[in-house]
Amino acid sequence: MNLNEYKGVYVYVQQVDNKIDGVALELLGKARDLAKDLDTDVTAVLLGSDVKGLVKKLAQYGADKVILVDDPALKDYRTEPYTHALASIINEFKPEIVLVGATAIGRDLGPLVSARVQTGLTADCTQLDIGDFPIKPMMGKEQQHNQLLMTRPAFGGNTIATIACPDNRPQMATVRPGVMQKIEKIADAEAEVIAYNPGFEENNKYVEIVDVVKSLSNTVDIMDANILVSGGRGVGGPENFYILEELAKAIGGEVSCSRAVVDAGWKPKDLQVGQTGKTVRPNVYFAIGISGAIQHVAGMEEADIIIAINKDETAPIFDVADYGIVGDYKQIVPTLAKSLESI
Ligand code: FAD
Repeated sequence: MNLNEYKGVYVYVQQVDNKIDGVALELLGKARDLAKDLDTDVTAVLLGSDVKGLVKKLAQYGADKVILVDDPALKDYRTEPYTHALASIINEFKPEIVLVGATAIGRDLGPLVSARVQTGLTADCTQLDIGDFPIKPMMGKEQQHNQLLMTRPAFGGNTIATIACPDNRPQMATVRPGVMQKIEKIADAEAEVIAYNPGFEENNKYVEIVDVVKSLSNTVDIMDANILVSGGRGVGGPENFYILEELAKAIGGEVSCSRAVVDAGWKPKDLQVGQTGKTVRPNVYFAIGISGAIQHVAGMEEADIIIAINKDETAPIFDVADYGIVGDYKQIVPTLAKSLESI
């Protein structure tokens, strides 16, 4: 493999029903930083049916080029045609880096595509940089420059591993939603559009989508919330969560929780914040009856303001909190809700 043939940073743009997933815009923002370090450009890969209308938005969020596969075979996500399309694009255009959001779709698509184009993939990254690999020269191992250094928690979050793919291209990563930052929208940006047709005869026949059942939840995704009122085991039981809900209602926030709460069956998994839950970046994050385990903090430390309420003054959550209140939440939270309600 001639590694020098591979150029450009590519971002897979997940869209469902013509709506671009936020992680794709976050990845375009990160791709611009990486492309700048490599002196190359950013290409968005847009797959779908009747999705041309999304090109402008991709340009506004950082794409220099858009490779567009617009085909009825791609109407709803199906593993085989999407894998075929993305793998064909990689084989044809030879990107140096391919980034995919670590969503349910991305976790299906990314590994399959990497296997098909015979390269490595680092899953669930929380940081991406361009640098030297190995980071320190090792005996007998030559240091290679301008490698994609892909960082992710490992061994249950007890260590952070930095992984590279020095011998193959492209360098592929799936990246956690909510970790990277979008750029400010550039209203008048334009992107070059490259229409591509990989052909779908063979890959279109295995799975037929008969019906799509939409999620019935009427709550806001906690990843989109500006204010989160998050409860932990210290809340004491599902029957007490109304206290947090009242605070959330008073200040226009949403309720989320720690894994202990999900494991106990008090709240559903889609409200879990943390390493094995969601990464959130709200303006304000209330951590109530949450101890502040490293796996929880990994999902919320990027919040602008963290307010911790815990009866144990030595709880590690106070190490990451901007404001801390030591005491029983049952006394503190209703008072807080009342005083904030009137603001
Ligand atoms: P606890 O650690 O039990 O803390 C409860 C806190 O409530 C205590 O600090 C206590 O002082 C306080 N408290 C008790 N009563 C009151 C009261 N009346 N008023 C005020 N404070 C009170 N955890 C996550 O959250 N998200 C994850 O994604 C996640 N992923 C994980 C992945 C792996 C591989 C592993 C091994 C663990 C993971 N965990 C995760 C679990 C994590 O290690 C902790 O066990 C968990 O976060 C603890 O939840 P907690 O803070 O709610 O409960």
